[in-house]
Amino acid sequence: MSYNEEEFDERFITSSKIDEDEVVENVLRPKVMSEYVGQKQVKENLMVYITASKKRGEALDHCLLYGPPGLGKTTLASVIASELGVSIKITSGPAIEKPSDLVALLTNLSPNDVLFIDEIHRLNHNVEEILYPAMEDFALDFMIGKGPSARSMRINLPKFTLIGATTKAGMLASPLRDRFGVLCRLELYSTEELATIGKRSANILGIEIDDQSAKEIASRSRGTPRIINRLLKRVRDYADVLGQGKITLDITKLALKKMDIDELGLDLIDRRLLTTMIQKFNGKPVGLDTLSAATGEEAGTIEDVYEPYLLQLGFISRTPRGRIALEPAYKHLGIPFMDN
Ligand code: ADP
Repeated sequence: MSYNEEEFDERFITSSKIDEDEVVENVLRPKVMSEYVGQKQVKENLMVYITASKKRGEALDHCLLYGPPGLGKTTLASVIASELGVSIKITSGPAIEKPSDLVALLTNLSPNDVLFIDEIHRLNHNVEEILYPAMEDFALDFMIGKGPSARSMRINLPKFTLIGATTKAGMLASPLRDRFGVLCRLELYSTEELATIGKRSANILGIEIDDQSAKEIASRSRGTPRIINRLLKRVRDYADVLGQGKITLDITKLALKKMDIDELGLDLIDRRLLTTMIQKFNGKPVGLDTLSAATGEEAGTIEDVYEPYLLQLGFISRTPRGRIALEPAYKHLGIPFMDN
């Protein structure tokens, strides 16, 4: 190795990268279905529905995409619109504050367009009420006037496709959930799929990376495309500063070590969650709010970002009495297993 790992301070690399990351995220989004890696079943089904609706010249049925953050819901919504050959308007549940915000969006759609609402479980109730007739009858109902002289008025909308994305399908009100004709659950990606995504991203960003390094980063990316893209960019920083600009296995391993990401992709927070469950609570079931208070991590973040991967690894389980760490987690952390 032609560098001294002790001389290097990781803080130089991770500072002020957030805005750049957002821009790069858009550059890396696949544009068409053939570029969208993995999620085979979901893609196959969607292509049938897309082809059928195009053949009939109709709008695609409303689709609900759900799964943990960073798995490609926003990307898939844009891919669907581009395969349909229509425009997409992108917004999110919290951004639509009042019913009039939604009315403005809906009345500006062209026939068969896609309206994408991210975090749809966070729509407020008044807005949701407007969405029901819009989704079902492609119409908006208004009350004009007050008291006995009040009458209702209906405005027809162009037929459109609503694509909703959520990390919490269970939090959607059932009248809203029932109005989606297509439900797609996105799964965590395999290491091979992530390596393919990593190599594609490296190619777009003009980074040289070998297969072994791509696989190494992939295996530590918690099944999530957004994470492999993020790690790839950070490893590139190390390669640019400490190497010859090329990502090699040595540089990859060093960078991941500096970022405190272990061989399973767990970071400091994952490990803190597990050790808190095991050591602070003696391996007994812990409620989400208690775990949040004990670790200082937001309950929603623990649930959406950390738990899906820990559950998939079989490191934790959710019981009616709370979260509990399982034997493989003890083994991974080198703590003797206590069976409670
Ligand atoms: P979500 O909306 O589920 O949080 P995004 O659609 O924003 O996730 O995806 C995050 C990043 O991961 C995007 O930059 C995109 O490039 C990449 N990505 C997601 N899914 C895929 C995929 N199937 N193939 C290639 N890249 C993907």
